This record gives sequence, C-alpha cells and structure tokens, in this order.
Amino acid sequence: MKQNLLVVISGPAGSGKGTVIKKVFEKSDEFHLSVSATTRLPRPGEKEGVNYFYMTREQFEELIKDGKVLEYTEYCGNYYGTPKEKVFETLKEKNVLLEIEVEGAMQIKSRFPDAVLILLLPPSYKELRKRLYGRGTETPEVIEKRLAHAEYELGFMDKYDYVIVNKDGGIDEAAEDIISIVKSEKKRAKRCTEVKDKFYE
Ligand code: 5GP
Repeated sequence: MKQNLLVVISGPAGSGKGTVIKKVFEKSDEFHLSVSATTRLPRPGEKEGVNYFYMTREQFEELIKDGKVLEYTEYCGNYYGTPKEKVFETLKEKNVLLEIEVEGAMQIKSRFPDAVLILLLPPSYKELRKRLYGRGTETPEVIEKRLAHAEYELGFMDKYDYVIVNKDGGIDEAAEDIISIVKSEKKRAKRCTEVKDKFYE
C-alpha cells in the first residue's frame, strides 16, 4: 500500500501551480518536488538547485545525450527537463511531484503509465491574461507566447487523469484536492496487491 506515486502537475503559466504546490507541502510531508533543469535565466529571487538547475544549452544537450533526463521539452525558446536519477531515488520515500508542461507530461504518460496526471487551470482565459500581465516578470512578447501555449495545453485536457480549477482564493482547496487525489489513487485495487499477500500471512 506504500507504493509512492509519480504525480505530474501541469497548468498554464499563471495557473498558480507554484503557489498550490507550496500549499501541498505545508499540508503534507508525503511529497517531494523534483527540481528541473532549464536553460532559461533565473528570475529575481530564484535560487540554483531550489527553483531550477540553471545551465547553458550545451550543458543541457549533454544531459539529453547521456540519457540523464526523464523527459524534456523546448518551451518558449528554452529547454526544460526532469533529471532522472533523483526521481527514482526519492520515490522510495515519497510521492514525487513533477511540475512540468504538457509535452513533458505526455512523455511521462507514455513511459510511466502508472503516473497520475493532474491539470491545474485558471478559472478563465481572461483571468489568466490578467494574472500574467499583473505578475510583471515577463515581457509582453513572452506573455503572449505563454498565453498561446495555454490554449495549446487546454487541447490536451482529455489526456490528463484529473482537472482542478484554481479559483480565486482557492489555493487551499486546490492543494487539498491534490492530496486527496493521491490518497485515493494509492487505494486503487491494482496498486494494492500486497494487501492480498498479507491477508494470507
Ligand atoms: P517557468 O519558466 O515559468 O518556470 O516554467 C515554464 C513552464 O515550464 C511551466 O509550464 C513549467 O511547468 C514547465 N517546466 C518546468 N520544468 C519542467 C521540466 O522539467 N520539464 C517540462 N517538460 N516542463 C517543465
């Protein structure tokens, strides 16, 4: 019953993924967030090894060549990918959250059919636009690219196992939804084979 899960959380930039995931950690100690590698520059306040492992394109391409990423993609002109080794190591102890976009999520789905895929959405396109421009961390050009990607991501909704709408003021609820989804998923009969073995001990 203790089989830990690989949990993918995707959602458009501005859907509140970061905040919701932080809340999950406040509410539960059964999760670990995988730190991705990226070629994008750190935003103010972001830290190496905490938010991302920042690297050059050459370094990232080396990781790909050496088969050291679980999945990767090029998003808005930068590479993003999940370092492989740490994920498997951590799964022995905790559920591992991958906060990744849709291309990466689809790679995980085909390689690890047991992974649970959750899509976090803002209440509306209008609200998403407002949040992205309000955040002020990107140029209008990048924001427009991210908005276009959001529409693209919505097209993959059916490929996800769960959809959570992150309403305004709904951070707590969204985090609790993630925790209860994982709790229920762990109780799926197919994941509980050892219960039967124990029954006859
Ligand atoms: P940001 O630049 O805003 O930190 O992230 C941009 C997008 O890249 C987000 O949708 C985020 O979920 C995604 N992302 C972050 N790390 C990874 C990763 O390792 N793999 C993939 N496929 N996407 C990632």
